[in-house]
Amino acid sequence: MNTVDLLLALLGRKSITPDDGGILELVASYLDEYEPIWFNKNGVKNLFLTRKFQDEGIHFCFAGHVDVVPPGDGWNTDPFVPRVEDGVIYARGAQDMKSGVAAMTTALKQASDFQGRLSLLLTSDEEGDAVDGTQAVLEHLRDINLLPDYSIVAEPTCEVKFGDAIKVGRRGSVNGTVWIEGRQGHVAYPEKSLNPVDILAPRLSLLSGAKLDSGDEVFAPSQIVVTDIRGGMEVTNVTPSSVKLMFNIRNSTKTTIEDIRLYIEDIFDNTQFRLELKQSAFPFVTKSDSLIASTLIDSINSLCHVVPKCSTAGGTSDARFIANYGIEVVEFGVKNDRIHGANECVAIEDVEALHGVFCNVISNLDKASK
Ligand SMILES: [Zn+2]
Repeated sequence: MNTVDLLLALLGRKSITPDDGGILELVASYLDEYEPIWFNKNGVKNLFLTRKFQDEGIHFCFAGHVDVVPPGDGWNTDPFVPRVEDGVIYARGAQDMKSGVAAMTTALKQASDFQGRLSLLLTSDEEGDAVDGTQAVLEHLRDINLLPDYSIVAEPTCEVKFGDAIKVGRRGSVNGTVWIEGRQGHVAYPEKSLNPVDILAPRLSLLSGAKLDSGDEVFAPSQIVVTDIRGGMEVTNVTPSSVKLMFNIRNSTKTTIEDIRLYIEDIFDNTQFRLELKQSAFPFVTKSDSLIASTLIDSINSLCHVVPKCSTAGGTSDARFIANYGIEVVEFGVKNDRIHGANECVAIEDVEALHGVFCNVISNLDKASK
């Protein structure tokens, strides 16, 4: 079975998160040279396939998810019956990320030798809570001393054309709420009350859109994005007792939650306020001159004649859990312009090119570790 045939088989499986739709069994039987380690937790199925070629060397692991988001409305044809038209495959998961799963799997099938160990980590819990998936498998791998050294997650990363972008990390996410306290009063006697809007007004420009660092070659500046401001009783004759302001910061590795706290506390110094900050994801980055990133960039460059940009844009992915263990991890996959939408689709030539890049990465890692 070639990559496109495998992809069509995967797309035909209805694997709405956290259901794997039988895909994990299918991949396990396809990669029958690899030892399967099944890891099921709270009804979520995960599969780790591994093959030791040499005692010495490196452990490289492809990773990804087989689950998809529900199809929603607006499809021209059944989202779980792949339709091929003019070299394009239409189905839910075509970009996110069954094309990646197919390309990783066939690249591993083709590997005949490797200086070390090759593995594949698949979960069916990425689009859901992502608690019993990759995170749980990594804990188990740590316990049995089988954590990989390097990893590529085949999430869709390309922007305009195949090969133009890889992800070398992700930004973190910090949610914040600040309550500015005043004293309610009659609008005709503003001197007798303390209007929290007056407190906020001159400070708002220091908050909304404020950049807390200047970013670097892979991270955009960490910016305060205000999402909500409310206070008062929706009347014109009473000034409010408090105003609540909510915001989010997608932070780079240059700005921590403590930096954010100090910045905001300084702005509201000498006023009555309360601040709550919560970090829902931590930023991480794998250097572009690391072995895994440079190998991937070289492979893309030599096969596609494009130098991919190293990006950290977008939401979160399971790569953050892998990075937590100190594993060098990058992400590369097909174009990301139709994910989670109706009539999600992928070009067949991009799927084949992805397979080619992955085969090339395996052989270059092999050479590098000899
Ligand atoms: Zn995905």
